[in-house]
Amino acid sequence: MSTMTAVPEVEAATKFVGTPKKVSTHVNQNEGLIFEKSSPGKKAYRLAELDVPAIDAKKLLGPALRTDLGAMPELSEIEIIRHFTRLSTWNYAIDLGMYPLGSCTMKYNGRVNEAVSRLEGIAEAHPYQPQALAQGCLQIMKTLEDALIEITGMDAITLQPAAGAHGEFTGILMVRAYHESRGNARRKIIVPDSAHGTNPATAAVVGYEVANLKSNAQGMVDLAELERMVDEDTAALMLTNPSTIGVFESDIHKIADILHAKGALLYMDGANMNALVGKTRPGDFGVDVMHLNLHKTFSTPHGGGGPGSGPVACKAILEPFLPKPIVVTEDDGSLALSFDRPQSVGRVRIFYGNFGMFVRALAYILANGPDGLRQTTEDAVLNANYLRAKLKNAFELPFQQPSLHEVVFSDKLQAKNGVKTGDMGKRLIDYGFHAYTVSFPLVVSGAMMIEPTESESREELDLLVDALKQIAREAAENPELVRTAPHSTRLQRLDETAAARKPVLRWRGQAETGLEVGTPAKEW
Ligand SMILES: *Cc1c(COP(=O)(O)O)cnc(C)c1O
Repeated sequence: MSTMTAVPEVEAATKFVGTPKKVSTHVNQNEGLIFEKSSPGKKAYRLAELDVPAIDAKKLLGPALRTDLGAMPELSEIEIIRHFTRLSTWNYAIDLGMYPLGSCTMKYNGRVNEAVSRLEGIAEAHPYQPQALAQGCLQIMKTLEDALIEITGMDAITLQPAAGAHGEFTGILMVRAYHESRGNARRKIIVPDSAHGTNPATAAVVGYEVANLKSNAQGMVDLAELERMVDEDTAALMLTNPSTIGVFESDIHKIADILHAKGALLYMDGANMNALVGKTRPGDFGVDVMHLNLHKTFSTPHGGGGPGSGPVACKAILEPFLPKPIVVTEDDGSLALSFDRPQSVGRVRIFYGNFGMFVRALAYILANGPDGLRQTTEDAVLNANYLRAKLKNAFELPFQQPSLHEVVFSDKLQAKNGVKTGDMGKRLIDYGFHAYTVSFPLVVSGAMMIEPTESESREELDLLVDALKQIAREAAENPELVRTAPHSTRLQRLDETAAARKPVLRWRGQAETGLEVGTPAKEW
């Protein structure tokens, strides 16, 4: 396969950073799809002799009995294990290396969190367990709620939403319920042009018109423009703070005042709380409702379609509208789930949310303690500013003011040679790193958004700096090398549009498609 041919420049480059090329060891003649490797009669299990009377399955199940299971793959245990272990090595993970993906806060998931979440009473709790027997689980939820309320400075919280975007949806549903309860349904939500795409999507899904607020020259909220836009028809402003360029909205009090003067609310997208925890609290600077991403700020595992968690915290005026049930303390001191919430927006998730993530986030919070959390924030900000200082001569810095936990560069210098942010992100993979965030935020053309988090040591940051500087040199001297990256991965440039628009969700064999195994998805 051509992807396996060594590219001399790549070898030189990877040596430079000291990351060995990992590819060749992943491929051997065992490679292939699990269906193609099937051979009749192989089994990965052995059942014990039947020691109870046999039942007549046909009589019991009637026409529901399946006799033909279709073409299921038949393999031995070691073949199955090798197949899935091999697939896992084709992936990148935070446990393999740094993940400088801006806005995503890809920090280390502490193993203590995992150990605690696997304790028997926690891992085996059942959502239908009677409340009297689930006091420990309810206590975990209550303790986490109290900690998050303390960290955000808000009055009340729900842990139900399963992700940040789901938290936005829940929070904006609450905003709508609040205005409607006052007989004053409003039509418009203001969203800055620097916002994460989920913000305008959320507002639209909840039924609002989205008004786009242009950022000022510093990439921040333009107060005069905001003042012009906010009116009696404005339900809320959805604001990320620190903003998507990693800068704290220093006029946040004024922003809140402008909204409140017209009866509108301030929603904060709290995805960037890793820059604020232990330093300042949204509840103290005028925010009415916000979400948190436990899978970002509070170190629970992230991505891969796995469960996330996006709690929504709010001020007392919005408390009646929180999803139900909520955890309450009874007169006898026991904990219970209360469904008696007539103004609630209802349930947004089965049961109580992703409980395993609550355990991990609480373990993280308790393991760090208040001083540890504050130190975490300071380290995250220090790491981002270290990268900013080290790389500012290699890449254009569109905004000059100091940033907090992430830094946004642009590809302006390299674009002159036809090398774009996406090319350099892919080239970074050859150096053993995950790509940074490419082309976001949209307010920066050719954005390169880097968020190292507090998890990385100075040594690791220096490796990233060396790699990025080397890539900047390559962009000047050998742009084609960067434009055709990555060179060290199993597959190279995939059709990203086809992957999203025409995903291949079901295995189809050669017999059905007439195509060779491994044919790119877009040709299916
Ligand atoms: C990650 C992120 C979101 C969405 O959170 P998910 O958990 O991915 O749904 C929203 N806003 C910002 C600023 C983010 O970084």
